[in-house]
Amino acid sequence: MSSFIDVKYINLCSSLLDKFKQKQTNLWNFRCPLCGDSKKHKNKCRGFIYEKRNKYFYRCHNCSVGTNFSRFLEKISPALHKDYTTEYYKENAWGKKDVGSSLPKFDFVPKFNNVLGGMASISTLAQDHPARQYLQKRLIPERYFRNLYLCKEFKKWTNTILPNKFSSLSLEHDAPRLVIPFLDRKHNIIGYQGRSFNPKEQAKYITIKMEGVENLIYGEERVNIKKKIYCVEGPLDSLFLPNCLAIAGLNFKGVKISNVIVLDNERRNVQIADALNKVITNGYSVCIWPDSVKEKDINEMIINGKTTDDIVEIIDNNTYSGLEANFQLSQWKRC
Ligand SMILES: [Zn+2]
Repeated sequence: MSSFIDVKYINLCSSLLDKFKQKQTNLWNFRCPLCGDSKKHKNKCRGFIYEKRNKYFYRCHNCSVGTNFSRFLEKISPALHKDYTTEYYKENAWGKKDVGSSLPKFDFVPKFNNVLGGMASISTLAQDHPARQYLQKRLIPERYFRNLYLCKEFKKWTNTILPNKFSSLSLEHDAPRLVIPFLDRKHNIIGYQGRSFNPKEQAKYITIKMEGVENLIYGEERVNIKKKIYCVEGPLDSLFLPNCLAIAGLNFKGVKISNVIVLDNERRNVQIADALNKVITNGYSVCIWPDSVKEKDINEMIINGKTTDDIVEIIDNNTYSGLEANFQLSQWKRC
């Protein structure tokens, strides 16, 4: 058993909890969803999740309910609770009997985990909302809409998290952006990307890294590290492939050597060719797109009618390393 499963699910159910706030490393506070908390005072928050001897409990100081976290989760979201018990079962099935000795070192950094509070996830927007339609047009799978957000004033909001990140001059040209949160394996927020909705905007993506974060990799909370992992250039592209991470820009810091690197199919882009050269030299396996693929990225392939299976097959049939990768890269650049 490990407490990081509990902490993960506390973060996962936070969007269901009104005025959710992490007070300390092992203490969370919000309005009690069971009794509805104070009717008169909408800001009163008397529900608490707390830790005691590596176990997590819920208590409300309004209705006096006291229970363990599992039963609380079951009450507020049977679906999440099902995932939670499955995950617990799997963790135990791996043979971790002794609670005390198997606990990972607790290095949870709670400071940034409430930053998405109050922002609308795309899944809550009306069907005809432009932000939702933007994702629909790109054929992004709907199941990811709840993990993507709309921020109406991206720079102003970023300045509330990282003060003075944007100058007051640039705040005058603030605009809505799609927010793509980056989470680590424990579901801590380590950064995010803001994607512009305006095709004429110069800065298509703005990437923000939280203080103290070393490697900014997208999708770590989802991948199965026991299976083959792909790593692509864009977070949105990664949503089309199974077990796929994305980097922000062409920075491979922290990407495991076992990952298959899949960059965009832009043969004239010097930065991409240089990046491929570098990762090949460093020993990674890379996908060198065959000449038959004309699209410049995975999203375009999907829009042109290729399926996830088609794309995985192309990648798997065109993955190279070492000298062979160098040779294929030189051919690819020539076309
Ligand atoms: Zn209550």
